[in-house]
Amino acid sequence: MFTAARLARFQQEETPFYFYDMDLLRQTVAACRTASEKRNFHVHYALKANVNNELLGIIREAGFGADCVSGGEVEKALENGFRKDQIVFAGVGKSDREINYALDQDIFCFNVESVQELEVINELARARNKRARIALRINPNVNANTHHYITTGLEENKFGINSWEFDTVVEKLRSLENIDCAGLHFHIGSQVTDENVFKSLCVKVNEFKEWFAERGVYFKLLNVGGGLGVDYHAPDVQPIVDFERHFAIFEQFLELDAGQEVHFELGRALVAQCGSLITKVLYIKKGINTNFAVVDAGMTELIRPALYHAYHKIENISASSAESVKYDVVGPICESSDCFGKEVELPETSRGDLMAIRTAGAYGEVMTSSYNLRPKIRPLFL
Ligand SMILES: *Cc1c(COP(=O)(O)O)cnc(C)c1O
Repeated sequence: MFTAARLARFQQEETPFYFYDMDLLRQTVAACRTASEKRNFHVHYALKANVNNELLGIIREAGFGADCVSGGEVEKALENGFRKDQIVFAGVGKSDREINYALDQDIFCFNVESVQELEVINELARARNKRARIALRINPNVNANTHHYITTGLEENKFGINSWEFDTVVEKLRSLENIDCAGLHFHIGSQVTDENVFKSLCVKVNEFKEWFAERGVYFKLLNVGGGLGVDYHAPDVQPIVDFERHFAIFEQFLELDAGQEVHFELGRALVAQCGSLITKVLYIKKGINTNFAVVDAGMTELIRPALYHAYHKIENISASSAESVKYDVVGPICESSDCFGKEVELPETSRGDLMAIRTAGAYGEVMTSSYNLRPKIRPLFL
């Protein structure tokens, strides 16, 4: 990953910056495409993971659609050439303005998260003399066994329509004339590494589909969302996710009606491993238990460790020392949670060394902030 040539290049750049390995991205996207295409599965890229135009271009060229969670993302997807009939739009709090914009753009599908949203979309579509294509985002009450901040498919979560509202939904679908109900949608959470979770999801999807069919409601598509996890601990062992295995589970366990389409919304699995946050060591400071390595990137550049206690592998990519020492790797921001890793074993580190914080391509650069009046970080695409 960090060849001598790359390191030399990094040394010319002002730190911190995001480095994207575009070959790895291309290979990842190609692997996903091969595995999905042969099963006729439709993939929508979840824009919220990373919105750099350079990445979006490669993903769009593979023929993937876009999964958006705001009007701004719908606009971004369209600007980057994603086909409007491949754009899906989820979100528990779509504003009237966002809904109207998406209606005007004739996007493929709204993933609707409440009964009231169904009524509002119907009304706004009627005012425009249109029919809105929707999928019902169902809360399947499946535990994704992931961090509770990134779990979305439990009844206690705010996302999706819960089973106790299904009777009302069926009634509404009969009466709302500007709604075209095309599918069922699910997204149970992120960074799911236990494939049994997806098996459980398939079983639930089959049950829900059956329940609706018994009441005369049929769906053209099933959208099973994203959530496929990546290996944060050993990013170089299998840098490309096993898409084949992932899609095979849905192929095996979903019971499809004739002609029924299966859609996916993958974010992290496509872009996480191609990105690293590259940061320079500013100071080494003696602590009580461990030393601190103070680096020039902080939670303003990568908030996942502070926000979800997320683990990111940290490497000193320029040190030559054979001796290994433990450091708390911390940023410059005035918050104690501004820490990338505690007691990280690294080669003996000095001021000026370059560190790579790995697997940062997803939910990294998109979540940067200007807190402490930090300047905007730049990306480097190689
Ligand atoms: C975030 C999100 C995704 C993508 O999740 P990943 O874990 O990055 O694959 C897919 N669908 C919806 C509705 C989302 O909110």
